[in-house]
Amino acid sequence: MKAEPFNPFAVAQRQIDQAAEKLELDRATHELLRWPMREIKATLPVKMDDGSTRIFHAFRIRYNTARGPAKGGVRWHPLETMDTVRALAAWMTWKTSVADLPLGGGKGGIVCNPKELSETEKERLARAYVRAMAGAIGVTKDVPAPDVYTTPQIMAWMMDEYETIVGENHPGVITGKPLALGGSRGRGDATARGGIYVTREAAAVDNINLEGATMAVQGFGNAGQNAALLGEEILHMKLVAASDSKGGVYNPNGISATALVDHKMRNGAVKGFQGADEITNEELIALPVKVLFPAALENVIRADNAENLKCRICCELANGPTTPEADRILDDKGVIVLPDFLANAGGVTVSYFEQVQNAYNLYWELQEVHWRLDKRMTQAFASVYEMSQRNKLDLREAAYLVAIARVAEACKLRGWV
Ligand code: NAD
Repeated sequence: MKAEPFNPFAVAQRQIDQAAEKLELDRATHELLRWPMREIKATLPVKMDDGSTRIFHAFRIRYNTARGPAKGGVRWHPLETMDTVRALAAWMTWKTSVADLPLGGGKGGIVCNPKELSETEKERLARAYVRAMAGAIGVTKDVPAPDVYTTPQIMAWMMDEYETIVGENHPGVITGKPLALGGSRGRGDATARGGIYVTREAAAVDNINLEGATMAVQGFGNAGQNAALLGEEILHMKLVAASDSKGGVYNPNGISATALVDHKMRNGAVKGFQGADEITNEELIALPVKVLFPAALENVIRADNAENLKCRICCELANGPTTPEADRILDDKGVIVLPDFLANAGGVTVSYFEQVQNAYNLYWELQEVHWRLDKRMTQAFASVYEMSQRNKLDLREAAYLVAIARVAEACKLRGWV
């Protein structure tokens, strides 16, 4: 029998159904939250460098705006589908809600392979996307941001196209911009920093001492490298292993995060780092460390390997690293799983700070970004932890309940349901 294709939106709807049952939501609210409130599908003709024209399919979805304007990235990916964008838009709605940001959730995408496009073709594609979506995006409607394969430069082109169309300055129409065009200080490491703050809070409530404790990082990219650096700097932890798509390195006595980042910059991989042994990704996630940071891909902790994990805390910087079956196994083993949409909410939180700074045309010092982020992540963890204690739930279930209850309340107060 052929396996049914994986549909992320079906998964997102199932999660809503489970939360709706626990929250005893009325039928109309439950049904409203199961669907995006607005969807746009656009067909973009774009001139290629060789003079030909190629047609690209693009999406922008506002999932729910009861708590504020939609917020979410634009992904450029060959396998992008409407259902993927719907699911990601739903997850953004819960992420902004659990972080208690006055925003809703949205997402966008273009079906394309950016590796096959020149810089000038990317610029024309970015501008074509904004021309198609200009009526639907804006600081009071929906604010895009970078995501898979989209960069600060692409955000700059998109902002410029939007401002050209409306004939005004609107830096807050998009976040993740370069610093010189109204980006926020502290956006680069915000996702990892938020995860570190949440890890600190989780350790505190369970009396886990992180001073000198070990950590391992799967996926030594933006989020993973910063988690290692900040784990050392803020929590005084010791990095013992890290991996990327080409393999991993391990030294139980410790690896300098700074030296490993430097090695990765120069060699494009962690492999070959002096003073550490090679290790596979499967071996890495089974190491007896205090904190494991999955910071690479989805579905890496599954029913077939979850039993092997020996960490005390699993801080999900990646989106969707743990399958629901694995979740149950980890719960039985007593591993504290910090769920992705809480653990990696630092990125969208600093994107929100970027919007606020753009609106005031006044820019904060780095320290101000850090303390504001710390305050918000600490508060987000506290709300989720309190819900989990009160209802005897794991942190993921509790985070869904906190997030969905807040959106449901906003829908009700508006008189929608
Ligand atoms: P990135 O591309 O900078 O890094 C990803 C890293 O994972 C790379 O080093 C890559 O080599 C490694 N990798 C790929 N396949 C691997 C494998 N099989 N085993 C081990 N490592 C592998 O991406 P990023 O921005 O750091 O994002 C990582 C994860 O964090 C993604 O799931 C992303 O959705 C999530 N995330 C990132 C942000 C952010 O602000 N960067 C925000 C929210 C969520």
